[in-house]
Amino acid sequence: MSLKRFQLDQKYTALQHQHLDRHTQVIEQGVTPLVQRHGKSLINFSSNDYLGLASHPALKQATVDYLRLHSLGAGAAHLVTGHHAIHEQLEQRLAQVTGYPKAMLFSTGYMANLGVIDALMGQLTDSKSGIVYQDRLNHASLLDGARLAGVKLRRYPHLDVAQLNEWLNHDCTEQKLIVTDQIFSMDGTEAPLLDLIKTAEQHQAALMIDDAHGFGLRDFSRPPLPAVDVYMGTLGKAIGTFGAFVAGSELLIDYLKSRARPFVYTTATPPLIAAATLAALDVIEQESWRRVKLQQHIGRLRTALIEQGWQLLPSQSAIQPIIVGSAENALALSKKLLEQGLLVSAIRPPTVPRGTSRLRITLSAAHTDEHLSQLISALAVHQASFR
Ligand SMILES: *Cc1c(COP(=O)(O)O)cnc(C)c1O
Repeated sequence: MSLKRFQLDQKYTALQHQHLDRHTQVIEQGVTPLVQRHGKSLINFSSNDYLGLASHPALKQATVDYLRLHSLGAGAAHLVTGHHAIHEQLEQRLAQVTGYPKAMLFSTGYMANLGVIDALMGQLTDSKSGIVYQDRLNHASLLDGARLAGVKLRRYPHLDVAQLNEWLNHDCTEQKLIVTDQIFSMDGTEAPLLDLIKTAEQHQAALMIDDAHGFGLRDFSRPPLPAVDVYMGTLGKAIGTFGAFVAGSELLIDYLKSRARPFVYTTATPPLIAAATLAALDVIEQESWRRVKLQQHIGRLRTALIEQGWQLLPSQSAIQPIIVGSAENALALSKKLLEQGLLVSAIRPPTVPRGTSRLRITLSAAHTDEHLSQLISALAVHQASFR
């Protein structure tokens, strides 16, 4: 038995030389928006817990109540004996809040994206006859979905619907699937959804959106986003729990339940997570101040940083990157903020293009005005050295 021939030592040393080795950082304690690392309390500006629900008492209570009566683990895959009543109830609720006829749970967003793209494109009767079109900045799981499906992939420049149209005009293939993040993870920018819907209609292509960073942040009582063929949302970000779902027509969901391999061949998530997620959806409806607070923070931060002269991106979302250029600058700035108790991650190539290294700030309704003031004044001090 030996891994010797895989030359992991050389490969890993090469990674280290390129500063591409990655490490987990232990969070000793965390109640949004604070975390403790190395015994030091930090204000976290690098979390996806946009509404502060991950530590909400109602969600904790829902899991405790559920556990009193039921088992912890699902016990099996959904198609065997792992699909509990609370899973079913959550799927119906998710269909209702997103405005689609039907929804199904996946264990993670990553698996949902693999499952959908592979089920739609990888299992075509003639596997050569499909093309997946993706925004260049799409999430890795969407790209991996195309890889798993083994289908032809075309990546258009970020938000470039004109380029997409040109390809769609020229490509004569039967099944065309356009896939986009609704809000882009590293930029916070939004996909031109109406244009994409029009484009998909013109070319009889299907449209899938990944709303990982948007689901839960819109008012459920207002009309949802315009419907697309495949809607994917995650539950580990604004919702504060774990997992993901896909919503669409009844036929789509029935088909995916039979054919999406990352759904079929995995254990269902613990049902208590579904209980917590249902509680989160209630909280979102009842505590609309959380969305309002988040919007206020976004507006205030943008105004202050533009005034200070930082280069921002056209993002109206909770993701607010500051472009600083070199990886060194991004790292240095992140380190300085850390010394002041502010946790803001530096994002470097290959995650983002060379020369666009950035500080990626994410905001949460759980941040207080005072937390935001601390970040804004710290950045004001550092601005001079990065101009
Ligand atoms: C986080 C994220 C995912 C993955 O979701 P998980 O539930 O964390 O696996 C997929 N797509 C996008 C755009 C994301 O930001």
